Amino acid sequence: MTKPAKTQFRTKCIYCGVNVYSQEHIYGQRFRPHLLETEDTWTHRAVRYGQDNEIIVVRDKVCNGSIYGRSINGPCEKCNNTWMQIINDQAADRLLELKDGVWPNLSGLDREALARWATLFGMTYVHGDALRECVTAEERHQFYQRKLPPHGWSVWVGRLDADARWVTGSGHLKAMTLRPDLGPTSPDTMTLTFSFGRLLFMVFKTLPIYALNPKIAREILGLIRIWPTPLELTHPPYPHITDSGAERVAFCLAEVNDMPLIIYA
Ligand SMILES: [Zn+2]
Repeated sequence: MTKPAKTQFRTKCIYCGVNVYSQEHIYGQRFRPHLLETEDTWTHRAVRYGQDNEIIVVRDKVCNGSIYGRSINGPCEKCNNTWMQIINDQAADRLLELKDGVWPNLSGLDREALARWATLFGMTYVHGDALRECVTAEERHQFYQRKLPPHGWSVWVGRLDADARWVTGSGHLKAMTLRPDLGPTSPDTMTLTFSFGRLLFMVFKTLPIYALNPKIAREILGLIRIWPTPLELTHPPYPHITDSGAERVAFCLAEVNDMPLIIYA
């Protein structure tokens, strides 16, 4: 990590709000040796729905370097080296297994650790995005206090095909406002899709009255939910997701094959 530039000195950490933020990697240091081998570019795409559901591309660019080496101004060094480090450590064993496409038996604690990691990653990632208003200060505070995904958030995973180029790292953020009548606010619903090796994550958030349709997520997108943890054991998601399948996951907000993805909870 590097020292903050002079212009950053007055900016507070997005989590604790106490310390001054610094430049921190969004993938923990321990993971990067496992993920850096093949990647030289990554695609950063952020899309927002406007009125009448027209799609507004906020950002669509190929970035040099590896997504796994990306760093961001947001968290402070203390947060990064304490509780964020613990979240990385607690998810590490499972992440490093899952990145190669194997699917171990995931206990409830495993799923919680993975969901916590994905939420931390997602919040930090979004802060560096053109659509950073997707995550509110209240949600970050809630996560900082509880170390669990905030209310209305869910975490979904799928397995990428061995040939999928998504393995090399892409991050797609998509946002929409389902209830503009609730006020002139930021997007209230988002999907953030990113890969960790062959593990595909989708972090989803919406208003408490809505949820993701688990049947479509499973059968069409190949995703299963790991948070909130279901009572039944989680079995491997199927089938393996190809590049086009990953793109479909990344851009699935609202509907899939003309069927509503977001349903009333
Ligand atoms: Zn902090």
